[in-house]
Amino acid sequence: MKKIIIAIDGHSSCGKSTMAKDLASKIGYTYIDTGAMYRAVTYYALQHGLFDADGAIRLAELEAALPDIHITFRFNEETRRPDTYLNNEYIEDKIRGMEVSSHVSPIAAVGFVRSALVAQQQEMGLQKGIVMDGRDIGTVVFPDAELKVFVTASAEVRAQRRYDELVAKGQPASYDDILANVVERDRIDSSREVGPLRQADDAILLDNSHLTIPQQNEWLMQQYLRVASEE
Ligand code: C5P
Repeated sequence: MKKIIIAIDGHSSCGKSTMAKDLASKIGYTYIDTGAMYRAVTYYALQHGLFDADGAIRLAELEAALPDIHITFRFNEETRRPDTYLNNEYIEDKIRGMEVSSHVSPIAAVGFVRSALVAQQQEMGLQKGIVMDGRDIGTVVFPDAELKVFVTASAEVRAQRRYDELVAKGQPASYDDILANVVERDRIDSSREVGPLRQADDAILLDNSHLTIPQQNEWLMQQYLRVASEE
């Protein structure tokens, strides 16, 4: 089997990371959650008062702070998943809630944030053997990825999944707020100028609205086996 790069893009909360993590752990690849990187920058900006009261980002201050923002992942043996750290602080539980979710898309639309994170992501893929999920992996980060998947599902199904996930973790959640956030993030992500969310021409489309998690994991495994065994 040749070592490849697997790019998984798609709409917010459509289960990209669930299938990406499952595949990576089964085939011994590294899983990279690029959304966690944009969330980590957002968390930093919130912590350091880089949003004005009207939600505008203090761009000059954010750009000056970028060299002080170090994002790393550490594999958690218990959950069998990578946890996100910002400057050596564990932030995994802090970046998934509504506060970060409702500020992340404007941060991810900033050109200098994207170029800094895209460069780090490209470096992570130099050795191949990675599964990376995000919005622009197949179009910008790895346009030559051997396997590209674009995942979508109805906004209502996605909001329900996100709601169930937060409730399971004991975090406060309102279905209506989550639905509005999912729709709004997709709107900002698809309409931004730099690295907009769109399906790469050579990506395979997967609508998983009516698939169970085991079914979608199996579907992805079959795509991987097909591509990795090609000459
Ligand atoms: O994947 P997740 O929902 O955690 O990503 C959070 C946000 O980060 C997205 O809504 C999007 O605004 C941004 N993002 C991005 N490009 C990526 C990954 C995430 O713009 N490659």
